[in-house]
Amino acid sequence: MSLFKPLQDLPKEERKTIEGKSEHVHCLIIGSGPAGYTAAIYTARANLNPVMYEGLQPGGQLTTTTEVENFPGYPEGITGPVLMEDLKKQAQRFGTDIRWGVATDVDFSKRPFTVIIDEKTSITADAVIIATGATAKYLGLESEKKFMGSGVSACATCDGFFYRGQDVAVVGGGDTACEEALYLAGLAKKVYMIVRKNYLRASQIMQERVLSAPNIEVLFGHRTREVVGSQSVEGVILLNSRDEEVRIDVQGFFVAIGHQPNSDFAKKFLETDEVGYIKTVPGTSKTNIPGVFACGDVQDKTYRQAVTAAGSGCMAAIDTERFLAENK
Ligand code: NDP
Repeated sequence: MSLFKPLQDLPKEERKTIEGKSEHVHCLIIGSGPAGYTAAIYTARANLNPVMYEGLQPGGQLTTTTEVENFPGYPEGITGPVLMEDLKKQAQRFGTDIRWGVATDVDFSKRPFTVIIDEKTSITADAVIIATGATAKYLGLESEKKFMGSGVSACATCDGFFYRGQDVAVVGGGDTACEEALYLAGLAKKVYMIVRKNYLRASQIMQERVLSAPNIEVLFGHRTREVVGSQSVEGVILLNSRDEEVRIDVQGFFVAIGHQPNSDFAKKFLETDEVGYIKTVPGTSKTNIPGVFACGDVQDKTYRQAVTAAGSGCMAAIDTERFLAENK
């Protein structure tokens, strides 16, 4: 049997017998970043017996960063992995059943909803909270991977502070890259923007801000060949439009070429924008399917912070609790 056959096309019996496993849960949480864990803490404390599937990267994007200094409550800062471990323990303390597994397919056409885990385990749920986050896009260079967390970052708000008074580079020419460059310009000595075309894709106002910032230099028509350094980033080798190598000396290399929300597995039922961000009713976590809620970066292309994700996880939990109370 093809596991990629749309679930709604399968007869009921067949759905239940995928790998012979089937289970019903009251509240299913998919994804385990700050949004998912916060939703778990709240739903567990509300006696909704949440079951969480952690996803491909348990703990989410923060587990790839080092120091987190802007999550309220940690005056000395905390590392991303420890913060996530603490959130997980807090969710478990109230009884969240946390499991390893990735949601690969769903059927939201009727209640209870069906979610397939790892293409083989079928779970039905009265309510589903989607907190699968987004994945920052990287250039895909070996050298970029090597310095991840020691000079290479995809989040200026998270890591910019470590480059105060130093020189940094931002790759990309969209609104995110401009925002990152402007944020970094307030901290770093000099910011290079590496833009592969000879124009910026960002909105006019962002372009004007970037181009008038005294310490931002936009390198149009440049591509990144390699990030160089010994223990951490020391520079970047670029190729200009004539394919000549140019080296810039920087200590931080910020990649801002876009994010990909992790919503593919649910897209055939949920309304998303053109990029794939799940649409929610403004001011709530409600999706177009009553009983399916979305929180964190999978539905947020604007703020993308751990604390905003956690806040929206709380909203999803409260929306779920009310939905389940009204739909017993
Ligand atoms: P975009 O897709 O708009 O821009 C991505 C940028 O990265 C482009 O300049 C693109 O270049 C470049 N790029 C992509 N791949 C590579 C690569 N492999 N090598 C080098 N450069 C690359 O993504 P954003 O994240 O900037 O924005 C996403 C959406 O969110 C947009 O609609 C944006 O307007 C919105 N947004 C709004 C904000 C706001 O209103 N405050 C803030 C942030 C985002 P090229 O142009 O050559 O394709």
